[in-house]
Amino acid sequence: MSADQLLQTQADLRKRYDALCAAGLKLDLTRGKPAPDQLDLSEPLLSLPGPGHYLSSDGTDCRNYGGIKGLPGIRAIFGELLGTGPDRIIAQNNASLQIMHDLTVFALLRGTPDSERPWAQHDGPIKFLCPVPGYDRHFAIAEKYGIEMINVPMNPDGPDVARCAELVATDPAVKGMWVVPTYSNPTGYTVSEQVARELVAMPAAAPDFRIYWDNAYAVHTLIETAPEPLPILDLAAEAGNPNRVYVLGSTSKITFAGAGVAFLGSSQENLDWYCKQASIATIGPDKLNQLRHLQFFRDADGVRVHMARHRELLAPKFKLVLDILEDRLAASKIANWTQPEGGYFISLNVIDGTAARTVELAKEAGIALTAAGATFPYKNDPDDQNIRLAPTFPPIDELATAMDGVATCALLAATEKLLDRD
Ligand code: PMP
Repeated sequence: MSADQLLQTQADLRKRYDALCAAGLKLDLTRGKPAPDQLDLSEPLLSLPGPGHYLSSDGTDCRNYGGIKGLPGIRAIFGELLGTGPDRIIAQNNASLQIMHDLTVFALLRGTPDSERPWAQHDGPIKFLCPVPGYDRHFAIAEKYGIEMINVPMNPDGPDVARCAELVATDPAVKGMWVVPTYSNPTGYTVSEQVARELVAMPAAAPDFRIYWDNAYAVHTLIETAPEPLPILDLAAEAGNPNRVYVLGSTSKITFAGAGVAFLGSSQENLDWYCKQASIATIGPDKLNQLRHLQFFRDADGVRVHMARHRELLAPKFKLVLDILEDRLAASKIANWTQPEGGYFISLNVIDGTAARTVELAKEAGIALTAAGATFPYKNDPDDQNIRLAPTFPPIDELATAMDGVATCALLAATEKLLDRD
């Protein structure tokens, strides 16, 4: 485009943007929450287990204290779905994020079973590898506890494993790594078996190096069948690193986001270590909640059938967003985006240096987007290009208006940048 054409385009976009602002919108595309119609799918949970039903199949009285590892029945279901098997997984309370937080704090204060001393007593700050773009709450845990974060690229088949291997092999301060292996937040990418094998086998300078294998979206598919979970604990054990991996997951986006069941899978030694620390804080998890989930699902197929119902509600929303992006942004080539087959997000990359401006323009028009930079450690996207789109929560008509508005903002920000450059 010549400068004149660009000016004309910008003027047209301005008009469209002014109309958007005048519409007085109040739309929210910020967080990946299930929509109310998704929550309705789990309505029967509200009347389970019901009066008189408090014994689990192994005879545990779920009303009482105890059972730090959680109910065997629910562990078996999620052991299958998360690829750990029933014995190397425990069921806890409502947030896998809390488990990740506690694993980190326990290691900082006490050290892991493989640590020479607590992580907090390391000479100088310890470090975590952070595939980017990634999940802001992972980064918040690291930042809060003074763990230095190192960006590594997240590729369509998983984290850039050559880069990870180099950093992990040479620097004993690198103690951890975040990975969202299935339908990653926000890219939707899934780690390949090859990359997984390399991650669990790469030599580490720190004997207590840990991978937080956060399989939050293991069953959240937008296509017919979810990918088989990788038997990551077996792969790690075969590679001679049985304690390297923590598998995390929860029913937050399966049943109720605020009242689900969270899981930790790992080696027996790691699980014993975690339970020993956790039992200082609790005499046991909420087993009644576990029991009602068990009654609701019955088995792993029950979860798969339930997820197919979520898919029916979510697939049209993702398709709508992708269609609008294609329609509004493809021709101008000012952006690219991921086309996920599952998970909760679409990752949109706009022209370098325009993500923050796009989000700002959207905000002024009444469309709340996840803050620019949020998908990077320290909220710092070095190229200012990534925007996380969360299509699940708004009703579909609002979603269409919001996405069309976002496209206008991205285009307007691009013209500003290009004219500025000229
Ligand atoms: N991990 C990832 C990758 C997530 O996207 C989310 C939810 N946004 C969580 C964990 C939070 O899980 P929970 O509700 O079990 O704490």
